[in-house]
Amino acid sequence: MKVPKVDAHQLEETDADRRRGILDDNALTVDLVSALAGDRRLTDDENERLGQLKKERGPRFFSDLLYSITHQYYPPQIAEKIWTAVLVHKKELSMVLARNVRTVVATLDYLSNITSNMSSATLVGERVIEEIVGLSLRDGLTGLFNHTYFFQQIDLEVRRFLRYGSPVCLVLIDIDDFKAVNDTRGHQEGDRILAAMGRRLMQVARDSDICCRYGGEEFAVILPLTDMREAGEIAERMRTAMAEPLSGGGTVTVSLGVAACGKKTPKYQDLVERADAALYQAKGNGKNRVAVDAADGSA
Ligand code: GH3
Ligand code: MG
Ligand code: MG
Repeated sequence: MKVPKVDAHQLEETDADRRRGILDDNALTVDLVSALAGDRRLTDDENERLGQLKKERGPRFFSDLLYSITHQYYPPQIAEKIWTAVLVHKKELSMVLARNVRTVVATLDYLSNITSNMSSATLVGERVIEEIVGLSLRDGLTGLFNHTYFFQQIDLEVRRFLRYGSPVCLVLIDIDDFKAVNDTRGHQEGDRILAAMGRRLMQVARDSDICCRYGGEEFAVILPLTDMREAGEIAERMRTAMAEPLSGGGTVTVSLGVAACGKKTPKYQDLVERADAALYQAKGNGKNRVAVDAADGSA
């Protein structure tokens, strides 16, 4: 299937996307936004990165700028107006105070004292915010994205498929005979193996894949912009990699079910159901294997 090109400007975004953006190495940091507004000189690299981001994000760039400072979402048109007003406000404040008033201060003053857009603003360092956001989206044992995040993202991806036709596949993974691992090696050792399996999964997945802990010894991987053929290959790679001995000891295998978003999956629940049925088939056929849903995901 030919993968259609999706215009990144148009995709809907959830607050989880924006929170995840904070964890992205390439995200706009407060320091970078501040430099953009003239608080310090931008390096050539930063200039290039900002140019790239502006191009990729289109009008959403202004929402991003304000989000990095306030962690509040403003729709693009409103964000652009606020940003322009903040820059004027920063200049005026700097003149009155006869020193450079930094962008964060000018933004918060503008939004809390001029527009009353923010109330009870508090000071929290960027590092702390990153940590809190990271914790709220991740599973504590494996470090993978958690159940809540999984459902937010799969919902978003299915809606993207319905609206723009951008393909998406889902892989559900269940560790084989894990109860026996607990019974023979103990629950703590089971936990260690589970965490190691999570790391192994992340190593084999691509950067764009969204690896989650779905349940106890079950993982879910969302494969955006991936068709069924490619998803089947990726699942097979996952199966092989996860069956290798783990560092620190222990070898377990996994069964995987793959489904593609298509005509028969108008809701994300349908996609999960189909992947789950494929997984059930993989278990029934003898475990340690991949089963692919019969529907090919065509729209
Ligand atoms: P199957 O191949 O059919 O999947 O067999 P199974 O034994 O893996 O499946 P079953 O559903 O019977 O058991 C799942 C086991 O996974 C039982 C449960 O104790 C274990 N498990 C689930 N979550 C955790 C966890 O967080 N830590 C540990 N150590 N074990 C867990
Ligand atoms: Mg299970
Ligand atoms: Mg199992």
